[in-house]
Amino acid sequence: MQAEAQIRDAKGEWRPESLPVPSPIFNGPWKPGVILRHLWGVIWPYNLIYIGMAFACWLWLTPSMETTSRFAVGWIALLYLRNVAMLVVVAGALHLRLYMQRAQDIRFKYSNKWPAKEDRKFTFGNQTRDNVFWSLVSGCGIWTAYEAVTLWLYSNGVIPYLDMRQHPVYAVLLTIFVIYFRYFHFYFVHRLIHWKPLYKPVHSLHHRNINIGPWSGLSMHPLEHLVYFSGVLIHYIIPSSPFHAIFNLLHAGISPAVGHTGFHRYVVTDDKSIAADNYFHYLHHRMYTINYGVQDMPLDWWFKTQHDGSAESLARIRGRIAA
Ligand SMILES: [Zn+2]
Ligand SMILES: [Zn+2]
Repeated sequence: MQAEAQIRDAKGEWRPESLPVPSPIFNGPWKPGVILRHLWGVIWPYNLIYIGMAFACWLWLTPSMETTSRFAVGWIALLYLRNVAMLVVVAGALHLRLYMQRAQDIRFKYSNKWPAKEDRKFTFGNQTRDNVFWSLVSGCGIWTAYEAVTLWLYSNGVIPYLDMRQHPVYAVLLTIFVIYFRYFHFYFVHRLIHWKPLYKPVHSLHHRNINIGPWSGLSMHPLEHLVYFSGVLIHYIIPSSPFHAIFNLLHAGISPAVGHTGFHRYVVTDDKSIAADNYFHYLHHRMYTINYGVQDMPLDWWFKTQHDGSAESLARIRGRIAA
């Protein structure tokens, strides 16, 4: 176990030794080895798991194009149940292990506090129930609505369809593009809902969660879900397979569970742990007006909204707010 796991500040906050840095893809050094190693780190393991899940969904858990050419309650309900099941498995497993069994206690946990059992600011007076409700009802509902409409548009030849067998290289490159496009899209819609007239009625629901957990990820107001999942509209313009649209939505639906665990690493055995790194977004939940995007897309650095958790960075942010 790394010794750094136990060093906390006076408030009980733990900070990883290696602080968030901008991606070398956009900022250099532009050396093939560095870029390739970084790209592999972006894809493996989480994004590759999401790609595999989307591929399995497209192959086995999506109705035929003939079925989706007409709207019907049956197949749309099955899509919804499939999306709910995936989120319950991923967010539920992380919540069970990290927050119910507390399998690694606060080792690698950014905050030393556990979510309060009762808190009136949450729906049903309970953070987990609040988060599960908004994630499954509104989150999976709007995710499925976008998916159903998109599949219907493909089936009726309204949006450009790509046969992946005829253009395999393009299909692979487009899959990687979807990951970066999601990061790009997220930054701007996230900044939009931090705009004062939208923050209180819409985005403050997600920010009820200061001490985040896996279920906090997709816990959003329905209007936020509407803009958050709208990245799928890119496939209405650029030729894509339904797989790419399914992946785009699944990435938006599932990745926030991993991005909100509040843990830096998952402990497997005493000396083995898996990286979970969500410190960048954890800081966003602590301080609101910083880190609107993800560290693999350097928009926060370019717009000077980044905070890496260091004292120097905090001083710069405070100076900006004072100005
Ligand atoms: Zn969040
Ligand atoms: Zn926010």
